Amino acid sequence: MARRACPGCGARPDGPIVARRCDGLALRACRECGLLFVDPAPTPAALLARYQNGYFAGASDFFSGQNYCEVRDRSIEGGNVTGYQEVAANFELRGKSVLDIGCASGALLQSLARHGPRRMVGIDIAEEPLEFGRTRYGLDLRCAPLDAAGFAAGEFDLIIMVDVIEHVTNLNDFLREAARCLASAGAIYVSTPDAGGLSAAGDRWCHLYLNYEHLHYLSRASLGHLANRHGLEAMKLWSEGYPVASMHYRFNALPRTLRLMLEPHVAIRNSLTRFRYRHAAERGQGGQLNAILRHVASA
Ligand SMILES: [Zn+2]
Repeated sequence: MARRACPGCGARPDGPIVARRCDGLALRACRECGLLFVDPAPTPAALLARYQNGYFAGASDFFSGQNYCEVRDRSIEGGNVTGYQEVAANFELRGKSVLDIGCASGALLQSLARHGPRRMVGIDIAEEPLEFGRTRYGLDLRCAPLDAAGFAAGEFDLIIMVDVIEHVTNLNDFLREAARCLASAGAIYVSTPDAGGLSAAGDRWCHLYLNYEHLHYLSRASLGHLANRHGLEAMKLWSEGYPVASMHYRFNALPRTLRLMLEPHVAIRNSLTRFRYRHAAERGQGGQLNAILRHVASA
């Protein structure tokens, strides 16, 4: 089978295979831009099967058997929806126009409503969580991929992409369209698995063991490179979390003391993991990569 050219920069596919996921697919690193990508890419049919009904209802490995919409709904009041703390800390939303790409049920937008944005729109390609959010929050949530959503140039002051960019089949078309929809002084917030974590964690890297619908993994360097291709610049990049997943307690619902007595090996293993990777994020090797992108001209 012919090797894949780099989906980020289009360079020849002569970079090394650096890891293999547990679904058997290899991860190749681009020699030019550093992007880590699945090679060969899953077939469209295989990808579609991963997103079939049940993806958001906990039927797949995506949300550990829990209903995604309901769990996120319960997280709104405490400000615990993924991405909320980062957006609230880094952007002034009052009077602004906000687009959340891959919004699912819109829980993040609903969390941000308290900061007074002028307008909020969410898009996703799965209808089921969108319907949940329209009914529950009355938000403007649309079922469309970004390139078919029909937004005007410069329509949004803030574009949010939390756990989205690793899913898109054409990285360059996606970023080009996002840059077009972004106001000249606007910002894009990206959160995605951190490819930098692989070098710290090796074959224990958490992303080798789950979320097999992911197609590529960005690091600080490769995201910066990709952004530059579309007239964007990474103004701030930071990593967080451990590149190795913590072990789960089987008796998670029990009080902490009881849990530790029943499963001390889990506590010890997790302490060792935290110790070993405590400074990984400072070296750009976390579990998750965050970035703020702006138009180069406005920098
Ligand atoms: Zn490349």
